[in-house]
Amino acid sequence: MIEIKNLVKRYGNNCAVNDISFSINDGEIVGFLGPNGAGKTTTMSILTGCLSSTSGSVTINGVDIFDNPLEAKKQIGYLPEFPPLYLEMTVKEYLNFVYDLKSCTLDREKHIDEICERVKLLDVKNRIIRNLSKGYRQRVGIAQALIGNPKFIIFDEPTVGLDPKQIIEIRTLIKELGKDHTVILSTHILPEVQMVCDRIIIINRGKIVADEKTEDIEKAVIGSRQIQLKICGPAKDVQTAIKGISGIKYAEVIGERELQSTAFLVESEPGLDMRRAIFNLCASHAWPIIGMEAVGLNLEDIFISVVDEQEAEPKKKKQKVRR
Ligand code: ADP
Repeated sequence: MIEIKNLVKRYGNNCAVNDISFSINDGEIVGFLGPNGAGKTTTMSILTGCLSSTSGSVTINGVDIFDNPLEAKKQIGYLPEFPPLYLEMTVKEYLNFVYDLKSCTLDREKHIDEICERVKLLDVKNRIIRNLSKGYRQRVGIAQALIGNPKFIIFDEPTVGLDPKQIIEIRTLIKELGKDHTVILSTHILPEVQMVCDRIIIINRGKIVADEKTEDIEKAVIGSRQIQLKICGPAKDVQTAIKGISGIKYAEVIGERELQSTAFLVESEPGLDMRRAIFNLCASHAWPIIGMEAVGLNLEDIFISVVDEQEAEPKKKKQKVRR
């Protein structure tokens, strides 16, 4: 487990990380998300022992990164935004070099071969890094992070600058690695987080503004759930009946639709799934439901909502409706 408690980092008068606390459990793939300048790299650098903090604590599996950096760092593999590759070395030479730097004690040949196989580098093992494509260089960066078999792997913007095919390959690889490592992925690319991560932490201006499971983030940030329905039946009666279901906050007619149906926007109390109740109600009146669709907010909307909210504080929480 990684535990960050009341972490603060100031650069002069600028507070880049402002009293943040969170923990990351074993086996999680966590997306660390935020706009530019939010404090992601600063947090990652402190977490990996590359930067000191102004105050607060970071422990990696119970080992304090400031008190016992060597022991703590052994448990972390780090792929910085710009991996420190030696371009004149072959892949094999470079990985051997990292093996020595990390004072790794695993069987050298076997360990390096296993990593090359895992990140699909076996074919280019004897090639000079300078001659590899950006996608392959990124694999070399990931391979160096895996040397020593660390429990935690931290990726900083791992797909920036790659072409679409390489992006898919690297994301697939990260997901794969998540099966037996705990992964933190720092990025500003929202779909990447949605595709790869189990949990999302959003940081803005040095503060955590959201920390939720990927599937719960919409509910947590927006607080309620909306669905759009198309129902064939007398609009007024349908609306009154739906409003009568317990836990429904409102049901609004949003227009006539094809096949003599009416479209409704319905919102429930937080945490309530109203779909079955609506189905049973309509079935009992023989009002066919010809459409039922969750009005989803994508991560981008959620991100803007939490970031805007912080900027506009102390304004009331916004509720966004897509029609
Ligand atoms: P992110 O990675 O989310 O883009 P950073 O952690 O790089 O954000 O930066 C957070 C804030 O700290 C920004 O305002 C940035 O300008 C500032 N900052 C980062 N590094 C330094 C530094 N070495 N000296 C002074 N200010 C810095």
